[in-house]
Amino acid sequence: MKFIRSSLVFLTIFSHLASAPLKQLKIFISVDMEGIGGIGTGELTRYGGKDYETGRHLMTAEVNAVVKEIFENGPAEILINDSHGDMQNLIHQNLDPRVTYIQGNIKPLGMVQGLDASFDAAIFIGYHARAGTPRGFLAHTGSGAVKGLWLNGVEVGEGGLNAHYAGEQGVPVILAAGDDVFTEQFGELIKCELVTTKWAESPKVARLKHGEVVRKELSEATAKALASLKGATRLKVRKPVAIKMKFSGTTQPEVLLAIPGMKQEDGTTVSYEAKNMEEAYPLIRLMYKYVKP
Ligand SMILES: [Zn+2]
Repeated sequence: MKFIRSSLVFLTIFSHLASAPLKQLKIFISVDMEGIGGIGTGELTRYGGKDYETGRHLMTAEVNAVVKEIFENGPAEILINDSHGDMQNLIHQNLDPRVTYIQGNIKPLGMVQGLDASFDAAIFIGYHARAGTPRGFLAHTGSGAVKGLWLNGVEVGEGGLNAHYAGEQGVPVILAAGDDVFTEQFGELIKCELVTTKWAESPKVARLKHGEVVRKELSEATAKALASLKGATRLKVRKPVAIKMKFSGTTQPEVLLAIPGMKQEDGTTVSYEAKNMEEAYPLIRLMYKYVKP
């Protein structure tokens, strides 16, 4: 009886393995706008700006190209986080219906809202270089008030900041896309698939590839990134996390000193030691977004 029972158990496990469905991947996609293919001026990224609606369509189409490729690879659960400005840019009804979508910007984790350790991978598209990068198309970090942001002594932009958050959660960034200055900068921090969507001619002007070309390149890069998912590297984050932020003026640093533990480095720079990225991220967001000059 014992023998029969264990054989049955074995058979049950075996038949389960033989018919086991492909593991469903969980993918997080953060979508900014400045680095989307076909966007060559700031106007297309600004509500009320010339051709902003075109910008929204280009952004939505780029997300759909990546999403389609993920589903070509196999079953997936995909979360899209709108990550630009008021974070209400993607045209929801035109998004691939198989995704879920976070809209709106009053969220503590901003560009990484919804990302946690349960995800297999993160993808950043439409990204731009960090504040002060020469030639970087529409380069900034968080907002125009920030001159520079450092984590454990390493200067980061939005891509670097978000990669640190993902890294602490154990989630690898497998693909990132934006202008040539962004991809070069991000590539120095993270080894992943990179798609250059345009070339920055100046901080305000880009030389564009056609959107169709960009979407094709994104599809190919997505396929490659998923094929090498097992070997993807997670950014290691040292704890505690030393934050340093330099502002364009002196008012914000003064106000921020009200936060216990916040230290003044000089007239425009403050520093803070956070336990980890989970503490650091919402604090950084508060520092540049909710403390006004
Ligand atoms: Zn943006």
